[in-house]
Amino acid sequence: MALVQIKCPRSGLWAWTDVHVDPGHWDPSSEVGRELACGVCGERHLASSRGLRVPPWSHTALATSSAG
Ligand SMILES: [Zn+2]
Repeated sequence: MALVQIKCPRSGLWAWTDVHVDPGHWDPSSEVGRELACGVCGERHLASSRGLRVPPWSHTALATSSAG
């Protein structure tokens, strides 16, 4: 499993969300139209197909955070 990032329209940064997906089978369009919690500004943003990604290092970040 990996964490999805959303492009924060306030800061312009890629922000972590609380959405966990299987990166091998994830279809970004499944999240489009949902409001996702933004890890940068703390608000919720409407997801768009170009404003979502699962970075390759997401795996590692998730494993590190769950260990703590
Ligand atoms: Zn934001």
